[in-house]
Amino acid sequence: MNYISTRGRTPPMGFQDAVLTGLAPDGGLLIPTDIPRVEDRLDAWSRLSYQDITFEILRLFVDLPDGDLRHLIERSYMAFRHPEIAPAWPVGPVHILELFHGPTLAFKDIALQFLSNFFEYILKRRDARLNILGATSGDTGSAAIHGVRGRERINIFIMHPRGRVAPLQERQMTAVLDSNVFNIAVEGTFDDCQRIMKTLFSDLEFKRRHALGAVNSVNWARVLVQIVYYFSAGLYVMQTTGAREVQFAVPTGNFGDVLAGYYAWRMGMPIRRLILATNENDILARFFESGVYSLGRVVPTLSPSMDIQVASNFERYLYYKGGGNPERLTALMKDFAATGSLSIPCGAGGRVDELFIPGVGTSADTLATIRRYDREYGYLLDPHTAVGVHVAEQHLDREAPTICLATAHPAKFSQAIREATGREAHHEILDNLAHAPTRCATLPADVEAVKSFIEERAR
Ligand SMILES: *Cc1c(COP(=O)(O)O)cnc(C)c1O
Repeated sequence: MNYISTRGRTPPMGFQDAVLTGLAPDGGLLIPTDIPRVEDRLDAWSRLSYQDITFEILRLFVDLPDGDLRHLIERSYMAFRHPEIAPAWPVGPVHILELFHGPTLAFKDIALQFLSNFFEYILKRRDARLNILGATSGDTGSAAIHGVRGRERINIFIMHPRGRVAPLQERQMTAVLDSNVFNIAVEGTFDDCQRIMKTLFSDLEFKRRHALGAVNSVNWARVLVQIVYYFSAGLYVMQTTGAREVQFAVPTGNFGDVLAGYYAWRMGMPIRRLILATNENDILARFFESGVYSLGRVVPTLSPSMDIQVASNFERYLYYKGGGNPERLTALMKDFAATGSLSIPCGAGGRVDELFIPGVGTSADTLATIRRYDREYGYLLDPHTAVGVHVAEQHLDREAPTICLATAHPAKFSQAIREATGREAHHEILDNLAHAPTRCATLPADVEAVKSFIEERAR
C-alpha cells in the first residue's frame, strides 16, 4: 500500500515513510491510495482475538514482513490490563466499549503503544535515532511518554503549559523518571506550547539535524490502529445480539477516533451510523448539521481532551467528501486559513452526510448522564464518554445496537465524578502517583529556550 497527500503535491511513499513523516511536506495529510474492502472476511474475523483482528487489518496497509508485524502487535498489547484489550459490555440501552485498559487509562494508549514499538523497530533496522517533540494539554503527552519510556534509540520532549494541566494528568507525565523522558513545563498557555512546537518543526535544518519526530493525531499509524476496535466490537455485538448492523457513538475532539470509524465503514463493516458527539466546543457538530465549518473560541469544559476547535484530522474526511480532488481540497483549506471558515453543500436529506449524526453534550448533560448511569446501572462513565452516551441516547435504533466508545477511565477525571455522584473514583495506578517522585524542567515560553534545551539533550 502506498500513501499520498490530501493536497496532491507529495510523491507516493510506503507505510514506513508515511509514519516517520507525519505531516506531508506539502502541508496535507497522508492517506492510503485505496481502501480495501473486507466484507467477505467478516464472518471469519468474528472468531478472532483482538490481536489477530489487528494483524488482519494492519497487514492490508503496511509494508512489513508478517512475522515482524505479529511480533509488534503482541508487544504493543502486553501492557494492557484486560485480556480482551478492548471489551464491550451491555449497559442500560447501549453497549460500552472500554478503550481505557492501557497504561495511562485513556484510549490514546491503543495507538501510541503500537506507534512506539513501530518507531523502535524501524530505528533499529535503519540504525537511526529519533527525538520526539510534542505539546500536550493532557492525555496525548502521557500516552506518548508511557509508550517510549526506556527505549534505546528515542528521546521524548513533551511540553505542557505550567500549572494548566489537571494535577493528575501532570503527574502521569512527570512521575516517569526514565532518562530518555524530558517533561518541559512552559510558562505560558497550551497555545504557546503549540506555537513553539510548530516553529521548531518548521525549522527544517533543526528538524533534520535532530531527527525530530511527531506523535500527534495526524500520524496515519494512529488512525489505522484505531480502525481495529470498530471491527472487533462491532462483530462481537452483532454476534451476541443477532443484529446485522451496529452504530457507534464517538466523543470527538480532533476527529481522529471517529475518522477511524469512517474508514471501517468504507472497508465494509456494517455500520449504520456514526453518532458524532462534541462538548460545547461544537465546530464539528455544527459542520455536520449545516455544512459550515467555522472557528469558534475554545471554552473549557468537563471533557478537556475535546476542548478543541480546529480538528486536525478533519482534512482527511473533507478530501473523501470532495470526491478525492486535491485541488478542490487545497482551495477549501486556503479559504479556511484565510477566513476561519469553509463550507460545503448539504445533500438531499438536508444534512452533509447521512452516515454522521451530530450532537452536543453540555457540561450539565455530562454531569446528569454520569449521575444517571451510576444510579440506574451501577456504571461510572468518564466525562468524555458521558458526552457520547448523552447524544447516543437520542438516536437509539432498534435494529442497530449502539456501541458507545469509552475513551478514559473515570478515575482520570475524579473532580467531575465527585461533582456528579458525590463519590470518589479510584484506580490504583493513579492513587500510587500521589507520592511518586517527579522530574520536570521549567522554561519560559520562548522558542530559543526550548531549542537549546533540546539541543543539549537530543540523541
Ligand atoms: C483525545 C481524546 C478524545 C478525543 O479523541 P479525538 O481522536 O481527538 O477525536 C476523547 N476522549 C478522551 C479521553 C481523549 O483523550
